[in-house]
Amino acid sequence: MTNKEFVVFGLGRFGKSVATTLADSGCEVLVVDDNEDKIQEMADIVTYAVKANVTDVDTMETLGISNFDGAIVAIGENLEASVMVTILAKELGIPYVLAKAQNDLHAKILKKVGADMVVFPEKETGIRIANKLLLGNFFDAVELSSTFSMMEIEALTEWNGHSLRELNLRAKYKVNVIGIKKNGVLDINTDADSPVSKNDILVMIGKNETLNKLASMHS
Ligand code: ADP
Repeated sequence: MTNKEFVVFGLGRFGKSVATTLADSGCEVLVVDDNEDKIQEMADIVTYAVKANVTDVDTMETLGISNFDGAIVAIGENLEASVMVTILAKELGIPYVLAKAQNDLHAKILKKVGADMVVFPEKETGIRIANKLLLGNFFDAVELSSTFSMMEIEALTEWNGHSLRELNLRAKYKVNVIGIKKNGVLDINTDADSPVSKNDILVMIGKNETLNKLASMHS
């Protein structure tokens, strides 16, 4: 199987971090920006770094990106460039175009011109961080859908010394424990009969409201 190929337009903070993460994960990554310094900075990290203005249709057509798996439009400030490159990427046949928006109107335009997914990185990170602060814990949560998440929950004091079989959390709270972290080490082959300690972190999948309730039961 060949590595996935992505093109990232715009090397601001968001574009750089997406491009670096994709490249670190073994993907082929092409980055495009009209700023020479930013191109130099990424040249050793990604597969190809090209200095170009994305509003130049001819240059865009010579990039050879029509067979790429996805495009990330990480240009926030320059609305015209962000919209144009989204249209061009879709017209060139890229199946998945993810674009960053600065505001709601920008998001609406990006969707209208064909973006498959529109993100607001700062806004979304802000909401996630605020929710974590509200929960009163700093454990990780992964949103699986609008209803379900995977979350790290510290074992309740009353669970101390009881096995998962005894606790029967699936029946009691409708959550599934998929792993247990003991002293920072995650074990996903959890033994239903070994006792849970009060400092253990249980990795669970369940309804958001149930997980939030369990997470707030410590205080
Ligand atoms: P962030 O908020 O994530 O830092 P910015 O919107 O500030 O993102 O960054 C946009 C990036 O896109 C900059 O590196 C800028 O040089 C680049 N850029 C803006 N317009 C164009 C364009 N027409 N062609 C190529 N690159 C562009």
